[in-house]
Parts: sequence; C-alpha cells; structure tokens
Amino acid sequence: MTSKRIAVLGFRHEAMIACPFLTDESTTMTWYLDELLDVPVTTLTGVFDTIAAEDGFEAVPLLFCRTLPGGGFERGLYEKMKGDSLNLLKEHGLFDGVLVLNHGAGETDGLGVHADTDYIVAVREVVGPDIPITVPFDHHGQVTQELLDAIDAMACLRTAPHRDNYETSVRATKQLIDIMKTGRKPKKAAVHIPMMIPGEKCMTDYAPAKDLFGMLPDYDALPGVTEAHIFVGFGWNDLPWCGMKAVVTHETSEEEALRLAREIADKVWARRKEFGLKMPTAGVREGLEQAAAAPEKIIYLADSGDNTTCGAGGDLTFVLQEAIDLDMQDIIIGGIYAPDLVDQCIAAGVDSEVTLELGHHISARKQIKTVTAKVLASGDAVDTSAYTNLRGNDSPWAKVQIGGVIATFHSARVSFTGPGHFEAVGVDPTAHKIYVVKVGYLHPQQEDIMNRNICLLSEGVGALDFTLLEYSKVKRPCFPMDGDMEWSSIEGVFEGNKGLLATA
Ligand SMILES: [Zn+2]
Repeated sequence: MTSKRIAVLGFRHEAMIACPFLTDESTTMTWYLDELLDVPVTTLTGVFDTIAAEDGFEAVPLLFCRTLPGGGFERGLYEKMKGDSLNLLKEHGLFDGVLVLNHGAGETDGLGVHADTDYIVAVREVVGPDIPITVPFDHHGQVTQELLDAIDAMACLRTAPHRDNYETSVRATKQLIDIMKTGRKPKKAAVHIPMMIPGEKCMTDYAPAKDLFGMLPDYDALPGVTEAHIFVGFGWNDLPWCGMKAVVTHETSEEEALRLAREIADKVWARRKEFGLKMPTAGVREGLEQAAAAPEKIIYLADSGDNTTCGAGGDLTFVLQEAIDLDMQDIIIGGIYAPDLVDQCIAAGVDSEVTLELGHHISARKQIKTVTAKVLASGDAVDTSAYTNLRGNDSPWAKVQIGGVIATFHSARVSFTGPGHFEAVGVDPTAHKIYVVKVGYLHPQQEDIMNRNICLLSEGVGALDFTLLEYSKVKRPCFPMDGDMEWSSIEGVFEGNKGLLATA
C-alpha cells in the first residue's frame, strides 16, 4: 500500500505595521525540502512526529519560512517565498493532505490583503477543492472568511507566553489525518469580537484569559466539536481584519458550530473590562529605581514599548539613557538595534574607549545623548542557533560598558527571548542584578530563571495602552476605544467580514 502524502509548508510572520523596518532577509529564514526535518522549531517537530507515528501516512516537507516579528514583509521577499511554496507544491504533488504552518498575523508591504489569507487561498487554488488543509495557528493571528473558506480545520495556541506550540501542531496534524481517513470535513463558524487588546493583557496565567482559554477543552469535549478557538488577534494593527475572534469547527453541524462560537464570544465580551496588565508595571525611571532598590538578583525588566517580539523596531535607547542618568550598576541591556554604533565599536576595537551618540531613533522620537563607552567585546554573529534560528542573530554586534551599565548593540534587529541570547554575547544570564530585554511579557525561558520582573511602560510602537492609538480602518465601534459600546455576538457573525479583503 502506498502512503498518503502530506505536504508541509508555510510561513510564520507577525507583522507590526507601525514598525518602520520592513521584514527583509536580515530577519527571515527559509528552509527547503529535507532541511525542514532538522529545524528545531516545535511547530515543525509536532507535525513530523505525529505523521511518523501514523501508519500509511508520509510527510513531504516543502518549505518553512520564519521571521522575527517586524514590519510587513518586503513585497519581493514575500512573493518569492510564496512563489517557491506554490512551485514546490506543484512539482512534488499530488498530495492527499496539506499542513500549512502559518501563524496568522502576517502582512506584506503594499499587498493590500492579509498575507496569510493571500497565501493559504493560493495553496488551495493549487491543490484544488477536495484535498484537506489544516493549520496550527498562533492565537495572535487573524482569520478572515476567505481564509476559513480555504481550509478545513485548524488548531490554535492556548497559552501566552506560548508553551504549547508542539501540542497545537499535533492537534492540527491529527485533525488532518482524521479528515483523510474519514473523508469528513468539519463545518466552521466564526464570530468577530470587536476588541483590540495586546497579548500582554491576555496572559493565560491570569484571569480572565486563564478562565476563557481554560474552558476551551470543555468545548472540545462536546459531542461533534473538532476544536474551539479564541483568537486574541494582533491588536496593534489598524487593519479591517484585526480584532478578536471566536471560531468553532464541528464534525457535522454548521449551526451548532455557530451557536458555540457565539457563546464563546459572549463569554469573552462579558469579561472585556478585566483584561489588563497583571504583571508588575512601572514607568521607565520608577521601574529602574525599584529594581535597583530590590534585594533580589536576576530581575528582568521588559522594555515593552520597544518589544521586538511584537514587531517593534528595537532601536530605542530610552531605557539605556535613563539607566545611565540614574548611574545604575550591574545592569545589562540586551538587543539594541544600532548598526552605526556597531560599526563604530568594531572599528575602534575591543578595549577601546569610544564616544557614542545614543538616540538617533527611527521608530520613535530622537533623544540624543553623548556618552563615553568602553568596547568590551564584538563579533560577527550572535550564535543562538539552538534557540531561535533567526537570521538577525547572524549579524555583527558589540558589547559596551557605560559607567555601571552594559549594553549590546546589533547590526540587524534581534530579540533576546532566552538566557542563550545573553550567553551568546558573553553575559552570564543569572549572575547579574538586572537584565533589560525588549519584550512585553517575558518568554518562558526568561520566566523560568528570573526572580522578579517589571514591565516598563516605555515609549514606542509596542506601547500597551490602545486607547491612545488612532484606529481608522478597524471596524468601529470597538473596545476599548469606544469604551461604553453595546454589542451582541449576533453582530459579529463572521459573514460580516466577507469582502473586507477587497476593500482594504
Ligand atoms: Zn503569539
């Protein structure tokens, strides 16, 4: 008996359209064919492990693209990745099923439509209407009606910070195999919930997200339900398809899927005012002072306004400048995007003293400060291959000391999301008092090693107060901008989004 062949392809990109730095090759990695088998990304390993454990099914890896969150894809880079994907799908076909590995929050500069929708609809056109397609989404992604029409089922992350990428891929793969075995395609229903919230206000360790995501397994267990989902979406983007969604897939009944999706949406909506920052927060100066006065070591401060894990630029030095002004000691500020400063430090050489002008920001107002720094180290690449597989880490970097403050500058945008990033620039990730990273919520490996954390409510495009954003394309009214609005889930039934892609 010949095996049933499952094509594995897709991209994971989270776009922050307010970021002035488009996603280009400096922060994008693309793997082809058997290269996918060696990429230690759990989204992939969950897929391959599940297919390998199933008799009579074979994975056919085609293409996987992963980016650091940032501005929209450069149009040419996106079109090449999409073109390569479709060509490989044609060349290596025919297939019996397709796993599309997309995140859901992809955008492409100048494309005018949601990038994941554009890509997945194109995949559907290549394979035709009958071949099942499933997707392991991130819950910070978007779904559109066109995207839902193009796929057969999906799984979606249920933890933030994300600890269940592997399990989500397993579920999406099992759903695909189930459809291939039974020939039964689930019915789908989605409800748009008019809410824009940052992921930091929807952490699943805290209510209400803990309760809302925590109830999803109960929905999965209802007769006929394939999977129930809450998409938080990517609330920073003022785009017509952005906002929260409740989505349910059901084996037989579209009516039941819709009833349950509305019920979930109503439960999310009822608790809308409870979504907030549950971790300790402070202004930049106040947070630095609190950390300096605290008795613990290994205090992690999140520079949330410049959070590169949601796509902010990473070039801001507001926290660095404040730390210098406060004459802070034993503080490490990692991952500042500053190509000019790296060039200057490398030209001067290790152990040299250099005069640096901080603050020529592109992604926020300029704030120039001239400092004397000692170059402690530099390199051609930050070796974090075991952690992130992101090309930004391949770029030149320099580590400097300014008074009691140590900072690392990089020639490409990077994200310090685990202790390995500090180790890679010669910083012990547990020996120092304070670490500053450009994230919003801490990532799992950071949560696991820190003794205390403070989210700094810093300036930048990643800032967390959405009432300050001027949304004009998002469907209004919308919470929290139109704070006292009334809403019922009947208004969000998902056909309302149909056609939005054409008018964007
Ligand atoms: Zn996410």
